[in-house]
Amino acid sequence: MSITVNLPPLSSRKTKIIATLGPSSNTAEVIHDLIDAGVNVFRLNMSHGEHEGHRKIYHLIRESANALNQHITILADLCGPKIRTGRFNNGSITLKPGNRVVVTTRDVLGEDNLIPCQYADLANDVKSGDRILLDDGKLELKVIDKNTTDVTCEVIYGGELKNNKGINLPGVHVSCPSLTEKDRADALFALALGVDYLALSFVRKAEDIADLRQLIASNGYETHIIAKLEKPEALTNGEEIINAADAIMIARGDLGVELNPEDVPIVQHQLIKRARALNKPVIVATQMLESMIESSRPTRAEATDVSNAVYWAADAVMLSAETAAGKFPVETVAMMVRIINQTEAFMRGQAIFGKTVSRESELKMLPFGHAVADATAQLCFDLKAKAIVSITKAGMTVITLCSARPEAPLIAISADKRVCQRMNLYWGVIPVYCEDAGLTHPNKLARHHALKTGLAVEGDNIILVRGFDQDIKLNTPTITILTV
Ligand code: PEP
Repeated sequence: MSITVNLPPLSSRKTKIIATLGPSSNTAEVIHDLIDAGVNVFRLNMSHGEHEGHRKIYHLIRESANALNQHITILADLCGPKIRTGRFNNGSITLKPGNRVVVTTRDVLGEDNLIPCQYADLANDVKSGDRILLDDGKLELKVIDKNTTDVTCEVIYGGELKNNKGINLPGVHVSCPSLTEKDRADALFALALGVDYLALSFVRKAEDIADLRQLIASNGYETHIIAKLEKPEALTNGEEIINAADAIMIARGDLGVELNPEDVPIVQHQLIKRARALNKPVIVATQMLESMIESSRPTRAEATDVSNAVYWAADAVMLSAETAAGKFPVETVAMMVRIINQTEAFMRGQAIFGKTVSRESELKMLPFGHAVADATAQLCFDLKAKAIVSITKAGMTVITLCSARPEAPLIAISADKRVCQRMNLYWGVIPVYCEDAGLTHPNKLARHHALKTGLAVEGDNIILVRGFDQDIKLNTPTITILTV
């Protein structure tokens, strides 16, 4: 057997790339270069920066996207109840294993053996024996005693602790709401800007999504919600949360602090599978090319991590500090594109597109949507179709079809620019804005755009699929095979 590495690329990339913006990348030039390199979605992280800064970046993205004639998605990531330390009088302290330290909710500057904490209910929520993890779990404390404001702990794993580092409380029921007052203000700001998605951090139950949905709807918006899964409680309620959200993010940074590292890959695998079965886009996030914050090349393990997420057909892979604060933001995206292209070319060679989905075997009859999506994927394979075309109002047909992960690219035509921007997150989807999407004859429109996108030439087969509605009673799915 010979091992092949020279694989012909697909006509278009399936797996989407999300880049977080920050000091390394929030200028017009870098945003333009990031889109050119392959970014599909930008993340504005509400944990950092001020509204005015985010507003400026939002407009820079929209301007660059227009200049490059692309539908670029923007998501605003709400910080949720992230617990942090306060500030130290010298900027940092050093914790020594075996020492006693006090974590206090009093409004003080920290000093040796005194750690201020911004979460007022800390002492209420923890009990003796609980673990308090600091700075992404690098430092660990064990609770010994407490009064109403001060929690006395023993240092288990020590090290340097700087200002405003994250605190995780694994196994502790944190009593504050998932949607904080800051999140509400940030959400209203981001909705008014016009972002395509709101991501909610530290979701614990489906009601957290319902609260945000209520805020969005009561202010007259229809913006979609991404649930960030990063707490063990969210995994217990995983099915309800995936159903309640429009998409999910496997936020491996905090998830990997609250769970053991060896649990993260199997959680990731199960969440991708479940989200796909429920037709919900799924994002794999954090530390994907982490070493490229400092280095122009990734580690081999990182390249393999990205490749695995692609192989399991996640909709998108996300970059955080790599593009927000790293030395090589554009090179990192270019590297991610290369890894994705190579893996997808390999997947095509293995003939696994359209077959990577696992439908619930206990179901006697597949839902309409899945049956049509699977049939379309099979037709693509048999007829070597160059594109699937869908004309869509809200993206329902498109999200249904991409659940089967077909080999041909999915041209999603909509008369609504907002829907185009939203669909750009979905696996394998190429959004096309067309003012008269509902007016021109569908066959004509499908042929026209298959040619215009360059995906098909005269004589090629394409497949047109229409007719899925948000109300399944109104579903009238039809598959039309067309020769261009
Ligand atoms: C994460 O924890 O993996 C994550 C994506 O969240 P954030 O970057 O907001 O900490």
